[in-house]
Amino acid sequence: FDVDSVRNFSIIAHIDHGKSTLADRLLEITGVISKEKKNAQVLDKLPVERQRGITVKAQTASMFYEKDGKKYLINLIDTPGHVDFSYEVSRSLAACQGTVLLVDAAQGIQAQTVANFYLAFSQGLKVIPVLNKVDLPGAEPERVEKQMHTAFEFEQNRFLRISAKSGSNVEQVLEKVVDEIPHPIGNRDLPLRSLLFDSWYDTYAGVICLISIVDGSIKKGDKIMSAHTGVKYEVSQVGIMSPGMKKTQALYAGQVGYFVCNMKSISEAYIGDTFHLVKQPVSPFEGFKQPKPMVFAGLFPSDSNDFEKLQDAINQLTLNDSSVTVNKETSNALGQGWRLGFLGTLHMDVFRQRLEEEYDVSVIISHPTVPYKVTLTNGTEQLVKSPADFPDKVKLGYNIEKISEPYYYRGSLNSHTYIDESRVIISARLPSSEIVTDFYDKLKSHSSGFASLDYEDSGYETADLVKMEVLLNNEPVDALAAVMHRSRVETNGRDIAKRLKDLIKR
Ligand code: GDP
Ligand code: MG
Repeated sequence: FDVDSVRNFSIIAHIDHGKSTLADRLLEITGVISKEKKNAQVLDKLPVERQRGITVKAQTASMFYEKDGKKYLINLIDTPGHVDFSYEVSRSLAACQGTVLLVDAAQGIQAQTVANFYLAFSQGLKVIPVLNKVDLPGAEPERVEKQMHTAFEFEQNRFLRISAKSGSNVEQVLEKVVDEIPHPIGNRDLPLRSLLFDSWYDTYAGVICLISIVDGSIKKGDKIMSAHTGVKYEVSQVGIMSPGMKKTQALYAGQVGYFVCNMKSISEAYIGDTFHLVKQPVSPFEGFKQPKPMVFAGLFPSDSNDFEKLQDAINQLTLNDSSVTVNKETSNALGQGWRLGFLGTLHMDVFRQRLEEEYDVSVIISHPTVPYKVTLTNGTEQLVKSPADFPDKVKLGYNIEKISEPYYYRGSLNSHTYIDESRVIISARLPSSEIVTDFYDKLKSHSSGFASLDYEDSGYETADLVKMEVLLNNEPVDALAAVMHRSRVETNGRDIAKRLKDLIKR
């Protein structure tokens, strides 16, 4: 396939707007999966993804499609929809030239519709708006088109209206992808220059690297090198995902596919790294922002005999999710455990659920905290990820200059934007400690489920933070300690005391 008959695209949408369903239909139309099997949501492979209906790991599939007598190789890169995983969205988008922005015609624009649109737009991708679920009785396609016009300046009356569920008009999505998304630019005669955008560990094959070939080609036997680490490898297999691994002779400029080499651990696979031939170095890509953990929690086995088993399970899970940080932690009350860092609370929930379901260990997870910054009078800064490490009151004012907490925001500060007479985008700056607790649940219940939320990092701000300790028989219990704003101590303290009174025997 020449570059001009290749298309690399992804589907982006708010959660539940139908990405996975549309992906299934596209794979059926192109014969990658059979219609008979009714194998719902092929690209969502983890049990937790099927159960919760969310996509955690991005997955890629290649398909072939013929239009006007010409054959096209179309690479679909599925992306997760939740904010906690937005780093997976941007890395997937880097391998694409365009995206299909899917919007539920009944629900209209939601928080992640906006966030994902700007991610794609800022990367200069062609965005094709598509209205899904037009079969629903509550669908209001005209109204949603108007919202899309107001919010993103899409031209009205040119939107594709589909039902991913029934398959109606879905083939037109492929036609638009072929007609409107530019083909990748690349030269297969140049030396290999490829971008690593995803990787995972497979028990049989080892580390699998997903790459986008920008220039040149790659085949079995090639001696390649990572621009980031300088480590050399020999390629043992290349191929495409369709939907499973399918060996091919080679991968050429413009294509997306995988390679397997003698890489031992996934920690050698840096997302955003450039791979080239050992003998022909090239200029590396800019690379990606490393995802930063924003929520920390202590994790302990319910039964201390399960410690080893849990250690193995954590090792296995972090093999495929390098965004989780792991440090040992010991608690007087709960024994030996770990302090884990996650991208958000959903990320944390998904991790806990996978431990319990895929590895059959029961765990205790402590109340999540955000990373606090403690500035000492000598100017040095410390990141506090656990109440146990929070400076105690004796030290305060002695060598501590200030304590600050992280904030989240979206868009410009404290603004209101009306996108139609019944929908408004509100941007605000909030301490992230508020968001990681029950902010999302409260927002959903106060708005009867209509409001949606998205957030991004907005730096640190000084605050009057204290560590609240809870004492049982005059002994502080480390597992119950928490860092909070001074104004919260009394209500939170009374609340815990009340609950402990009922829980603990006299
Ligand atoms: P994702 O979170 O964006 O991947 O969304 P899914 O593909 O998992 O779809 C979420 C839900 O919407 C599922 O229950 C689908 O069956 C349903 N759904 C998807 N597309 C349509 C559609 O065109 N019409 C209707 N009525 N339901 C749909
Ligand atoms: Mg999905």
